[in-house]
Amino acid sequence: MKLEIQLFAVPFRKTSKTRKRMRRTHYKISANEMTTCPKCGATIKPHRVCKNCGTYKGKEVVSMNKEEA
Ligand SMILES: [Zn+2]
Repeated sequence: MKLEIQLFAVPFRKTSKTRKRMRRTHYKISANEMTTCPKCGATIKPHRVCKNCGTYKGKEVVSMNKEEA
C-alpha cells in the first residue's frame, strides 16, 4: 500500500499584528499619472480634455472664449 501524501509550504508561525502592520507600511497610494497636452504643452490628466486650450488628442472639443495660438 502506497500513501499519497502531498507536501506544501506552510507558515511556521502566525503573522503577528505588528509583523502584518510593518509589512503593510509599504502599501502606499501613488501620485496620479500626468501627461502633457500635444497642442499647448500644459500638464494634464490623461484621457481628459485640456483645460488650457479645450482640445482632446490635438482636436478642439470645447471652444475657449479667448483666442489661443
Ligand atoms: Zn492644451
